[in-house]
Amino acid sequence: MTPRLRFAPSPTGNLHIGTLRTALFNWIFAKAIGATLILRIEDTDRSRSESEFETNILQGLEWLGLTMDEGPYRQSERTEHYHAHAHRLLESGKAYRCFCTEAELDRERAAADSAKRPYVYSGKCRALSPVAVAAKQAEGIPHTIKFHVATGDAVIVADIIRGNISFERAVIGDFVLVKSDQTPSYNFAVVVDDAMMDITHVIRGEDHISNTPKQILLFEALGYPVPQFAHLPMILGPDKSKLSKRHGATGVTEYRAQGFIADAMFNYLVLLGWSAPDGREVMTRQDIIDQFALERISKSGAVFDITKLKWMNGQYIRRQTPDQLWALVSPYISSDYRQVLGGYSDAMQRAIVYSVRDNLDVLTDIDRFLEVYVVSDADYSQRVSEFKFESDGVIPTFVTELHHISEWTAAAIDQAVEAVVAKTGLGKGKVFKPIRVAVSGFQSGPHLGEFIFILGRDKVLTRLSEKEN
Ligand code: GLU
Repeated sequence: MTPRLRFAPSPTGNLHIGTLRTALFNWIFAKAIGATLILRIEDTDRSRSESEFETNILQGLEWLGLTMDEGPYRQSERTEHYHAHAHRLLESGKAYRCFCTEAELDRERAAADSAKRPYVYSGKCRALSPVAVAAKQAEGIPHTIKFHVATGDAVIVADIIRGNISFERAVIGDFVLVKSDQTPSYNFAVVVDDAMMDITHVIRGEDHISNTPKQILLFEALGYPVPQFAHLPMILGPDKSKLSKRHGATGVTEYRAQGFIADAMFNYLVLLGWSAPDGREVMTRQDIIDQFALERISKSGAVFDITKLKWMNGQYIRRQTPDQLWALVSPYISSDYRQVLGGYSDAMQRAIVYSVRDNLDVLTDIDRFLEVYVVSDADYSQRVSEFKFESDGVIPTFVTELHHISEWTAAAIDQAVEAVVAKTGLGKGKVFKPIRVAVSGFQSGPHLGEFIFILGRDKVLTRLSEKEN
């Protein structure tokens, strides 16, 4: 049988980094073992679920290229299945109707608190006779359906990442399957769905570990096979507490808006909890899929490091061809700069953007590094006048080399700069910097040969002639 995995987000907020990583690990593992991956929208909490959040989640998945094989299924459209399963459990005596009011339950909770013992429901409604239950139902008294956790051996969660974790039944306690508003609880809906959808592996965040024994009891009570579980380590902020808004952006959309590339995000997120056996960090999707194993996922929390994400993004920016980079970065160019670029041919626009690839960490950096191409003559002169040129022959030697260039290409210009290094015997920095300032007015910036090529022979020679010394 083909293994089946699911990604099951709740549309109660925009897609965040942690949820996206869960989707990613499911997707990679599905590819690695040839499993079918389904998307299930867990929208049973009607008051907090919103369709705009579902849209945001779908867009985030699409951005990263995490295509799902089936779905989306929506829990809100599956109510009949939850009720049918609840009915089965009621019939077999494994579940019961609980008419306790919130006030009664609060009193039980308070008593447990003051006795300093963990709260579990007393189970008193289990003792109601069928006649009493029928009478209360006839009166229309609101009630929940609860699962009876009978005494027995501890429940063992056999986690692929964490090994066996044991939970005593006495501390699990009876829990709600169907709430008084008729909606299923998370634990119940998830089991009915995982069972009906033939899920073989459940990969989700560590925050769900305490739910897992309840779910195992439900699979068993319903006579369904128990899937395998793998709980992913939490993602932490730099202070090692759970990643949250106070550490900065947590929404995937925000990272996209900030100019992170999907492939870089994919590669970075997979390193949050997993590492390749050969220690490589920058890898293609196929490399990752080929090397991926749940057993290699770490148990301890993974720190989300924005500096490293930016570094990764820079690595990916530098790997793009001029056409690819243009496609990625052009939406981030402001309209002012777009207008300036409009004065160049398509090929030249691509060359301009490509020339600043080494300067970019995120795509939103683009305007800042295009400035060198649009600087006014007055600003250029001002900048040049502020730089102290040495009388070491760099500029005149470079001018001579440029005159020798037969075909005006970036490569020929790079060679001319190297010839100045060789002829003057000066270090690279002492050659590159004055040339860069003399031609651009800036002390750092685009790839030098490409910039000079784009600026054009005439303009370059004019600028340099003002500087010959
Ligand atoms: N809907 C749950 C969540 O978003 C995930 C449930 C699960 O994976 O079992 O946290």
